[in-house]
Amino acid sequence: MLTMAPKGTKDMMPEEAYKWQYIEKVFADICARYGFSEVRTPVFEHTELFIRGVGDTTDIVQKEMYTWEQGKRSLTLRPEGTSPVMRSYIEHKKYAEPQPAKYYYNIPCFRYEKPQSGRLRQFHQFGVEVFGAKSMMADAEIISLAYEFLRELGIKNLTLEINSVGCPDCRKEHRAALKEFLKPNYDKLCDTCKDRYERNPMRIIDCKSPECQKLVEGAPMMLDYLCDDCKKDFEELQENLKAAGIPFVVNPGIVRGLDYYTKTAFEFVTDTIGAQGTVCGGGRYDHLGEELGGPEIPGVGFGLGKERLLLVMEASGIEIPENKPVNALIAYMGEEPKRAAIKLAAELRRKGLAIEIDCMERNFKGQFKLADRVGAENTVIIGEDELASGKVSVKKMATSQQIEIPFTLEDIAEAIK
Ligand code: ATP
Ligand code: MG
Repeated sequence: MLTMAPKGTKDMMPEEAYKWQYIEKVFADICARYGFSEVRTPVFEHTELFIRGVGDTTDIVQKEMYTWEQGKRSLTLRPEGTSPVMRSYIEHKKYAEPQPAKYYYNIPCFRYEKPQSGRLRQFHQFGVEVFGAKSMMADAEIISLAYEFLRELGIKNLTLEINSVGCPDCRKEHRAALKEFLKPNYDKLCDTCKDRYERNPMRIIDCKSPECQKLVEGAPMMLDYLCDDCKKDFEELQENLKAAGIPFVVNPGIVRGLDYYTKTAFEFVTDTIGAQGTVCGGGRYDHLGEELGGPEIPGVGFGLGKERLLLVMEASGIEIPENKPVNALIAYMGEEPKRAAIKLAAELRRKGLAIEIDCMERNFKGQFKLADRVGAENTVIIGEDELASGKVSVKKMATSQQIEIPFTLEDIAEAIK
């Protein structure tokens, strides 16, 4: 037990961590180009934030949260990013500043789920949120950001699916029609959906049980019930996406897991990584701010699962560039050369070069092997003789060609650059 990570969690060893660094850098770059700033919130929050902010009929609140009591408070490990970022925006009164606020985040999330491929208990998300903008310009902006991010990574086999889940006004009528449609089969619904039937029947469309999936076949869809305002916005969104050159399909079945969505709902999906095919999911939530006790704050955002993203990249055979090459290994033999090597390594690193030095004090042969193992482009050799003569040897590892140069920082830096 002591030497095993808890079920549903994963170590990221160096062989994998460089891939994470890569996608994180590309994401941060894209966000900067779109004018989004990073927000970092705590890993845990007051439990009430998620009960109110995620919706009490969601899977997350009903069975997936890591919650514990600490003194008089109930605390929960963050299962998603939107409510904490909205909480921070309200707490810091960002709504009083010129709008919109454009944030991004890069976070671990925690959900007590059955672990499988693309589904972990600690997983990781990129996300963005635009607060304060009602216009479908904002929806198109974030979808465009996600699209460009995925394009820049070289991913081609993802489809953007969009839908509108309407607003509280038009949802009422749909809700009534949907309940009427499901009523004769109420007894056949799964227990979770029996509960949803009263509280949020639209989520039954999203149920993963095959029996419920069969029961919702031919059910009234929200798209046919949109009010004029929601219809206009959904058309506007599609025009904006076309203008941005972003291909999409309308999928009236997209509901999204969370209760708080209004109007726009979208997903980037793939069939290349098995059952967990939703890589990115998002939408609009114009009433979350009030729900959390703040003013009315329109919001739109997405969450993008990094594990699933990496699975898609792997399935597409996308090569991720490895870390920066090692410019040189400084090999030494003898006490005085060792000190000279320590000094030289520090000075070269200060100049921005990547330098390896053997911490095992092996002989030259062992150090050359190390140079090969770490992929050093050069080996700088410092022995007693070299020190005495004021010269060092530099070996180009690719060609095994060896040259002798003066032992000065400038000469060595020049030779290994
Ligand atoms: P799913 O239907 O797969 O359970 P969800 O609707 O619960 O997804 P969201 O809450 O919208 O997912 O989270 C956004 C993204 O985070 C998902 O599209 C997915 O890429 C990722 N994600 C969600 N849950 C997990 C998990 N347990 N493990 C890994 N990634 C996850
Ligand atoms: Mg889920």
